[in-house]
Amino acid sequence: MPPVQLADKYDIIFIGGGSGGSGGARRAASYGKKVAIVESTPHYGGTCVNVGCIPKKLMWHAADLADRLRHTAGYKFQDLGQPKFDWTTFKLQRDAYIQKLRGIYKTNWNKEGIVLINGHATILSPTEVQISNPGEEPYTVKTDHICVAVGGYPTIPSDKDVPGASLGISSDGFFELEHQPKRAVVVGAGYIAVELAGVLNTLGTETHLLIRGETVLRTFDPTVQEVLTPWMEHTGVKLHRQTKVTKVKGGPGSYTVYTDSGETIETDVVLWAIGRQANTKSLGLEDIGVKTTPKGDIVVDEYQNSSVPGITSIGDVTGKWLLTPVAIAAGRRLANRLFGPPSFTGDKLIYENIATVVFSHPPVGTVGLTEPEARKKYGDAVKVYKTSFKSLYFSMIEEHHKEPTTFKLIVEGPEERVVGIHIIGQGSDEIIQGFAVAVKMGARKVDLDNTVAIHPTSGEGKFTTT
Ligand code: FAD
Ligand code: NDP
Repeated sequence: MPPVQLADKYDIIFIGGGSGGSGGARRAASYGKKVAIVESTPHYGGTCVNVGCIPKKLMWHAADLADRLRHTAGYKFQDLGQPKFDWTTFKLQRDAYIQKLRGIYKTNWNKEGIVLINGHATILSPTEVQISNPGEEPYTVKTDHICVAVGGYPTIPSDKDVPGASLGISSDGFFELEHQPKRAVVVGAGYIAVELAGVLNTLGTETHLLIRGETVLRTFDPTVQEVLTPWMEHTGVKLHRQTKVTKVKGGPGSYTVYTDSGETIETDVVLWAIGRQANTKSLGLEDIGVKTTPKGDIVVDEYQNSSVPGITSIGDVTGKWLLTPVAIAAGRRLANRLFGPPSFTGDKLIYENIATVVFSHPPVGTVGLTEPEARKKYGDAVKVYKTSFKSLYFSMIEEHHKEPTTFKLIVEGPEERVVGIHIIGQGSDEIIQGFAVAVKMGARKVDLDNTVAIHPTSGEGKFTTT
């Protein structure tokens, strides 16, 4: 049944009520346009709100507190007893908060005149979207523009490739865990593997991290890899380098993981964190000629246009920079370009110098080119400045818990224009945003040097020649 308030025709329909769809729809509605969002689940807000950034960051905060509790002795707090983390009740509280956020999304759409259509969308033509719900007759909604913002889902190897792989969970399953596992095997070396292995380990789970290479975060600057990988081991993560899973056996709560090195690991949970795939199946894209990559991402140009006029796409489903603020920014700029004032003609998101953070322990903040990327682009014109130190906070804390901090600055040319900044250490998740503004504005090293420091902070870290 179509919702009663359905218009004869919309100016734009966003398929997907996640970060991108919501961001784009709200901006389009702000220009007085008739906007609808089609969302197939009641989990408004998409991946970020439900099984991504938000529950992950709450778990990271819990883990961060566990670390800080270990530091209290250094600051001479007495008689704290043995604080224990109650995963089960924390999950209930976290779920309730997420439920509230879903409601806020829905309320905002409603307040701003955006029509929410519940159901699975299939594109019939550049002006027609079919809505299906189980047990109901599908119906068609008409529109001038369609924006596909359907996001993605976590990759799990097939049982054919890795027998028993489906016994494992993904990050989605991690957020469903009712109890803290005593032992966990995490497979992968990217954002999610590092973040979730970090949370589990810091909260006291025996955590095995299986990586194919020598380091985690192989797409990040080498310095980040070199500092974070041994530190994760130092904090107790059992790192298995150059290791692939060949088989998983077992039943609920008790598994054996077999690896290509001949090792076997007993565990309560197997967590795959090996990347994500676009949600492009069953959208009808092939039938109307929307081009996708072999991996399934929608191919778009710099204005988010797909290969079919009238159909645009934003966010994770386009396979570039799978980050919430990127999806939102792309959606807003698309709405500006389609419906905004003349000053927004040609508005588009520039996919360069996008800052990003990995919520590891300690966190990593990065913006711009890695050193290998900079050397490839600018050759000998590249110069690198680096500094490593222990932040003042750790001066009161026993040696074992003193986290490393490293700042790396990559500049190019005689003016020493900053083309990359990579920070690992306490507070780098918050510091990097300000540096990103500087990089975006074309800052030179001298501009950073001329900025009087805030003392005592980690952000005042000086960049010295390597
Ligand atoms: P989504 O948010 O995935 O939204 C897509 C929506 O489309 C979904 O609600 C889906 O139900 C709906 N949909 C799909 N198909 C259809 C259909 N046919 N019809 C109707 N509806 C449909 N990013 C950060 O910036 N910071 C972080 O800290 C961070 N942490 C993360 C942690 C984890 C564990 C994960 C998995 C991701 C994390 N991300 C983070 C990435 C971030 O969540 C995504 O980049 C972001 O959610 C992408 O938004 P989107 O709008 O493209 O897609
Ligand atoms: P990533 O792309 O970050 O990392 C996946 C990694 O897994 C690869 O880099 C690869 O590393 C490894 N891998 C790939 N295939 C296999 C395999 N078959 N077996 C073992 N290892 C494999 O994906 P994630 O799933 O971690 O996250 C998806 C995206 O979500 C991220 O790229 C990020 O954009 C977003 N995200 C953002 C966060 C944030 O902003 N803080 C947090 C979480 C997610 P290698 O080649 O070294 O083996």
